[in-house]
Amino acid sequence: MVRVEARSIGKSYGGVRVLDRVSALFQPGLLTSLLGPSGSGKTTLLRVIGGFVAPDEGEIRFDGENVTSVPLWRRNVGMVFQSYALFPHMTVQQNVVFGLNRRGVRGETARKETARALEMVRLTGFEARRPKELSGGQQQRVALARAIVTNPRVLLLDEPLSALDRRLRQEMQIELRRIQRESGLTTIFVTHDQEEALTLADSVAILDRGKIVQEGPPGVIYERPRTRFAASFLGDANFFTGRVIEGGIATATGVVRTDDRLPAIGANATVAVRPEKMKILDEAAADVAAPYGNRLAAVVSEIVYAGAVSTVLLKSADGSQIKILTQNREARLPAPGESVTLAWSAAHCVLIDA
Ligand code: ADP
Ligand code: MG
Repeated sequence: MVRVEARSIGKSYGGVRVLDRVSALFQPGLLTSLLGPSGSGKTTLLRVIGGFVAPDEGEIRFDGENVTSVPLWRRNVGMVFQSYALFPHMTVQQNVVFGLNRRGVRGETARKETARALEMVRLTGFEARRPKELSGGQQQRVALARAIVTNPRVLLLDEPLSALDRRLRQEMQIELRRIQRESGLTTIFVTHDQEEALTLADSVAILDRGKIVQEGPPGVIYERPRTRFAASFLGDANFFTGRVIEGGIATATGVVRTDDRLPAIGANATVAVRPEKMKILDEAAADVAAPYGNRLAAVVSEIVYAGAVSTVLLKSADGSQIKILTQNREARLPAPGESVTLAWSAAHCVLIDA
């Protein structure tokens, strides 16, 4: 199990800085999601780690060893590309054994290793098929078998599930997780899908314009975003901005309280609140007296019903939009135009860098 480290990696294309001195740590044996919007530099960083692209500056270290100038074929990484890039004229067996042969592994050893990789991805019995005789999910598994057959030091996956439909993608996420656990490979999984990043990963690293802005376990990244970008890219968030006063932040719609340590009185401050942390107070129930730190009057503008949950869009007195997510547990949802009171705890107000 290899510890992968990117140290101050810089990379420009035609004068445009794609990676801006990125530093990141990928823990041994864990799956880290590299999450960021399109164009943020995810693929470039993955290619630099794999040795497909040389950085302009910085170092890649595997277990402390500087591999920056170690060529691709000696770095021994397994990579699955966004398009699976299987050889269409070759069988499954030939596709998987290819990387072994290229490394000079042949005969019985190659056959054994190939069988082991195909078993790992549950494709035993498919050896003689060609890619076009396989479903998208099965082709995906072949690509994965091909990446792990050489016992790589690191497994690099570049949006490997993006071509699959939703159902198959969820199935493959579970499979991928199993394969990663069984193989124990240090894995970097690039995705722009926030839900996928949270579901799959032991750790999430968020990339924004060539910089890692936050890195940590999914629960921490989601619950304690540090910046506006992290808060709104990984999930939804409501923001409240104002001036710090005694006991809270004075905003256009009243005082917002947080358990986080505020800057000095008079300074500007912004907090983020996740939509599911806010609720509509039930005026008839004991709720009204419950000790929520925060309350806010708002008018419902729209309800988006999605079965188990509904998204309720509201407007507060200053005209700003608020989004809440509610489980459809109550007997009725409020109607558009209805005036309600929102409530949420001071613990759910996360102070961020705005
Ligand atoms: P992501 O994978 O996050 O979508 P990429 O790493 O593919 O982002 O690309 C980041 C930026 O670098 C983009 O603006 C892209 O156009 C540019 N870029 C990537 N590879 C090259 C290349 N080989 N030549 C020129 N520009 C490139
Ligand atoms: Mg990409």
